[in-house]
Amino acid sequence: MREITEIILHCTATRPDWWAGRTSAEKLAEVRRWHVTGNGWRDIGYHYLIDRDGTVVPGRPLEQTGAHVAGRNTGTIGISLFGGHGSAASDAFSDHFTPEQDRALRALVQDLRRRFPAVARVSGHNQYAAKACPGFSVPQWIAGPAQASAPTSGPTPVAAAPAGQAFGWLFGLLARLFGART
Ligand SMILES: [Zn+2]
Repeated sequence: MREITEIILHCTATRPDWWAGRTSAEKLAEVRRWHVTGNGWRDIGYHYLIDRDGTVVPGRPLEQTGAHVAGRNTGTIGISLFGGHGSAASDAFSDHFTPEQDRALRALVQDLRRRFPAVARVSGHNQYAAKACPGFSVPQWIAGPAQASAPTSGPTPVAAAPAGQAFGWLFGLLARLFGART
């Protein structure tokens, strides 16, 4: 296995309802066709893709160097989210992606960091190129709470709101105890 030191996030720049009703495997096959037939690459450029419903589909095998960021494919894993059409680099994750994608991406990143302890960084394509991709600020997304606790469209899991409230309550208590200087 090659050494992995970084995970880089992308999006497919497709509309939210792109190929709705098709399976994740069919969507992956279409992206693979863009990369192989369109770009002339030997395989799809990303190692994983995450569908709108949170389904994670493997792309290029992890052992193989991907094709997703010019000059930074060595030592990195590329993960792409379906969606992100019309996004900007400074947008919020929830502007273009679903809570299911948020949960799946966080879980996948956590799993990969466990498998590859040398991973020192999770970043976005837009940190290395003048592009919107993945259509949000990765540092802000990582620092933020799971999207499930944000008031966004889409189904909200039952456990999310109480967790968010509990955190807010705890923060309020700490702020009172120590004197809020924020
Ligand atoms: Zn990208």
